[in-house]
Amino acid sequence: MVQTQTIPYYHATGREEEVFTHAFKNKIPFLLKGPTGTGKSRFIEYMSHQLDQKIITISCHEETSATDLIGRFIIKGAETVWLDGPLTTAVKEGAIIYLDEVAEARPDVIVAIHSLTDHRRELFIDKLGETVKAHDNFMLVASFNPGYQRGFKELKPSTRQRFIAVSFEYPEPRVEIEILINETQVDADIAKKLVNIGNKIRNLTELGLTETVSTRLLVDAAKLIHSGLPKRLSVHVAVVEPLTDDLQTLEALKDLCDLMI
Ligand code: ADP
Repeated sequence: MVQTQTIPYYHATGREEEVFTHAFKNKIPFLLKGPTGTGKSRFIEYMSHQLDQKIITISCHEETSATDLIGRFIIKGAETVWLDGPLTTAVKEGAIIYLDEVAEARPDVIVAIHSLTDHRRELFIDKLGETVKAHDNFMLVASFNPGYQRGFKELKPSTRQRFIAVSFEYPEPRVEIEILINETQVDADIAKKLVNIGNKIRNLTELGLTETVSTRLLVDAAKLIHSGLPKRLSVHVAVVEPLTDDLQTLEALKDLCDLMI
């Protein structure tokens, strides 16, 4: 049987595709900045398909350490054997490594990637005392959410300046409507209403929400509506509830959405 690989659906919002292609060609690390749910991961999936490159994604969190990325010794029977981590594999075999939310990782991760982000393009494996030169097709990609405040981590200027950076924002309404229709096959009228709701809530800055309505939340609402869940309920559970736990804000947002869907 012939296997056909489906192309990940990605709707460009600027010249990011062109920039990424040139970054890959010139072996320059790439940083995607922007709030959650703005298509950063989808873009990388799409680009890896376009460039015919393997992609290895690491979702970084506060426990992610250099060892997790580089590798470790494991006990196998009576022996101790070395196991390459995902970063080492990407460096050796030539793949795009995508460090999602890199600022969340432990500081030793940032230290470990430094020599890969400059002219050296090499990885030092301290536990083996070895230095590995990166494969020609190795590319380092990271994402970072600059909207984070209150206790979330920043990315140091000395690290940021090792990447070229592209901002990802919520797409303009025309594009976001198209994304909803393409992702969920929902009616154009519903897509339009959902995008209106999204933009209305995004503009309510006085609510002080840590994160606002992402395209992802709107896609989820559209999926629920398309599969037959009542419209208002879909918006409550997919758009409003994930945003806040404050009862008054929840009620106010639900009332607002009920009028708009
Ligand atoms: P991020 O990595 O920025 O958190 P994702 O790439 O996971 O966000 O996007 C979340 C969802 O939003 C995707 O699964 C997709 O359905 C939709 N989406 C957002 N932006 C786009 C876009 N430009 N093109 C296609 N789908 C998009």
